[in-house]
Formats: sequence, structure tokens, C-alpha cells
Amino acid sequence: MKVPKLFNNWKIFESNLGFAPSETIKIKLDKYYKILLAENAKYNLTRITSEKEVYEKHFLDSLLFTKEHKLSNEKIIDIGTGPGFPGIVLKIFFPEIEITLIDSNNKKVNFLNILIEKLNLKKITAKHVRAEELARIENEHYDIVISRAVAYLDVILELGVRFTKIEGKVILLKGPKADEEILNSKNIAEKLKVTLTAKQILKDTGFGERINLFYTKTKSTPDLYPREYARIVKESGKKHA
Ligand code: SAM
Repeated sequence: MKVPKLFNNWKIFESNLGFAPSETIKIKLDKYYKILLAENAKYNLTRITSEKEVYEKHFLDSLLFTKEHKLSNEKIIDIGTGPGFPGIVLKIFFPEIEITLIDSNNKKVNFLNILIEKLNLKKITAKHVRAEELARIENEHYDIVISRAVAYLDVILELGVRFTKIEGKVILLKGPKADEEILNSKNIAEKLKVTLTAKQILKDTGFGERINLFYTKTKSTPDLYPREYARIVKESGKKHA
């Protein structure tokens, strides 16, 4: 029987996460990569396609925050997951979590459903919906809201915070400009009743500096939020960036 050739630079996972992925995880990531490439040839899912870059900049980057916040069996929502980052990767590494993936682009959601079936993932749902529409229906449903590369800090906080339970977390996977976004998103924590409880700065990932932000929700989200998307974006601190 021909043994499939798997990605072999697991050292980068071990050095960044502190553990080596199991064989089951490696095989699932390999399938994920192959399905991503095949579907990406039909419609655009990601610009990053080389094996090395997908494993580092998508798979590993989706997991770095777990060194700061250990996952167990939390109920999580991933907003604007795109082709499944970080949500599908988290499900592969931490099968005990219950996770909802949402995206406003139906092609991405179709892709997620193909992955869920082919990787035989359980306790996972993919929904084609906008965050600002679902937030009022799923008010305080989740322990953790997570999001990567979807919007400027004040925008994604407003889209996400209502989903979290009080004392729950909003975890934002950001790049090196996170501090600038904090500065430009004046009073946002006070307005949305969240506190920045941790900031994880990762300088030596091997693929560039990453900064992850951990907000804790302190009180129920004021009725006003989230507002209509156009209004949120119009008033975003991004215009000062
Ligand atoms: N999180 C993925 C990643 O890190 O590669 C995808 C990032 S992609 C740049 C942003 C994604 O967010 C897109 O798939 C887009 O359709 C989705 N998105 C943008 N605004 C959204 C909203 N208000 N509600 C739900 N999804 C949204």
C-alpha cells in the first residue's frame, strides 16, 4: 500500500505550541490541505496555497492563542471563518469543543460543509449569515467568540460581543498592528462593556509577528449594539489608521 506523503516540518508546531500533533490530527490536516487546494481551483478561498505557507500561516496561526487560553469543552463561535480559520483547525485539534462557524459568503459555507463531511467532524455547524444579524438571536450563547482577519478592532468587537456570555471571552487573532488598532478604537471597551484582559505577543513564530487580544465581557451588551454594518464601519477608528 502506498503511504501518503504528509507535511514534515512538525517542529514548527512543537516549538510554537509545545506539543506534537497526533497521527490522527496530521492525517486530518493533510486531507484539509488537499480539499482546500482542490476547491480553491474552482473558486477563490485563499491566496495562500503552498503547503508550507498553509500549514504555518493558516493552520498554525489559528492555534497560537491556545498557549495563552487553554481550550477544553467550550461553546465557541468563529465569526467570518472563511475557509475555516481558525474554526476548522480548532475542531481538528480540540474535538471536544462545540463550535459554530459563520460567514456572509455562501461559497465559503458550502466549502465548510464539504470539509465537515469529508473530515467527519462532529459538534460543528456552518451557517451562512452575517454576524450583526445573528448576534441578537444568539445573545449570550457562547463561552468564546473568536475571529481572525475579518475587520478592524472596533468593528469586530461590536459584531462579536453580544454572542458571548457574561465573563465569556472575545478572542481576536491579530497581526502586528493590534496596538495601533487599540489606540484608534477609543472608548470601545467601555461602550461595549468588555475589558482587555490579556495580550499575547508572538515575535518568533517563524512567519512574522502575531498579536492576539483577549477581551472579557463584564456586563450585558447595551441594546444599541451591534448597529447596522454600514454605520459601524462609517464610525470605525480605522479612518485614523
Ligand atoms: N477568518 C478567515 C481567515 O483568517 O483566513 C477568513 C478571513 S476573510 C479576510 C474575512 C471573512 O469574513 C470573509 O470570508 C467574509 O465573507 C467574512 N465576513 C466579513 N464580514 C462579515 C460579517 N459581518 N458577518 C459574517 N462574515 C463576515
